[in-house]
Amino acid sequence: MGKSLLDLHTHSNRSDGLDSPSYLLERAKALGVTVLALADHDTVDGWQEAHEAAVRNQLGLIPAIEVSTHSEVFGDAGTRRISVHLLAYLPDPTNAEFMGELKKSRDSRLIRAKKMVELLSEDYPINWLSIEAEMRPGATVGRPAIADALVTAGIVADRTEAFREILAKGSKYYLSEHSLETAEAIALIKNSGGVPVMAHPLMDFPAGASMGDLATENFLRLIEAGLAGLEIEHRQVPENARNWLRELAAEHNLIFTGSSDYHGVGGKINELGENSTQPEQLNRILDLASGYEAYFPSGRSVL
Ligand code: AMP
Ligand code: FE
Ligand code: FE
Ligand code: ZN
Repeated sequence: MGKSLLDLHTHSNRSDGLDSPSYLLERAKALGVTVLALADHDTVDGWQEAHEAAVRNQLGLIPAIEVSTHSEVFGDAGTRRISVHLLAYLPDPTNAEFMGELKKSRDSRLIRAKKMVELLSEDYPINWLSIEAEMRPGATVGRPAIADALVTAGIVADRTEAFREILAKGSKYYLSEHSLETAEAIALIKNSGGVPVMAHPLMDFPAGASMGDLATENFLRLIEAGLAGLEIEHRQVPENARNWLRELAAEHNLIFTGSSDYHGVGGKINELGENSTQPEQLNRILDLASGYEAYFPSGRSVL
């Protein structure tokens, strides 16, 4: 048995990644990834093409979705609303209730992006056609597509620069979108037979800060709601938060994963396969999932 490299969080051009699902699988294969999860934002649109490419390239595939949600959290600064991303592994893509909610999120993202572009067009030479030119029709729209239009217009050098100020939260061009409440999304994912894992937890936690009891309460509420795991090994999870998250996972018997959150070369600095999930942890996901089948070229036993 060869070395396993399990990358359980990647994006394609069906949302804000730059690669087609086919190219994503080919590139993963070339880089030695053995099992890949495609987790586009709020859509299952890439699953079919990814499956065909997984079969062609003889690569393991875990169909997934990165679900946009929001949570009210308590902390030293009082209550605030934060954005929480949930990875839904192997949910049933025909579950009407869940798919209906994802459609609402995509529709709301579209309205929000159009409003943001409207604001931006007062100061920069871009309009909605500039955004459409950057995206595959029907892709889940987000700030990255607006960033790409700003790059094409010569305003910024790359996505990273666009996110630094112009598109950052707090910028006068920034608007938030409607999304599911996190605990409600967890219930929807579980009712669809999927396994909910929190993507890049504590991503915005300040470096150097110490973990307080208040953060625990926010997680406990979600664990009670059925959160099954935490994506701990991810470049945006601050080092000072990782041990705290590992202990939380151990205490509550949560699954823990590691992944890249790759968005294509130039889409984000994250590289395919830069983090890996332990096979035992993927096995726990597979044991819990009942909404859809993972694909393995020579059976699950290779894990
Ligand atoms: P949105 O979903 O529209 O709020 O945009 C957030 C998305 O932008 C995230 O899912 C990331 O994939 C992407 N993103 C955030 N920061 C950056 C960055 N600095 N460079 C490239 N992409 C980013
Ligand atoms: Fe993204
Ligand atoms: Fe995310
Ligand atoms: Zn992601």
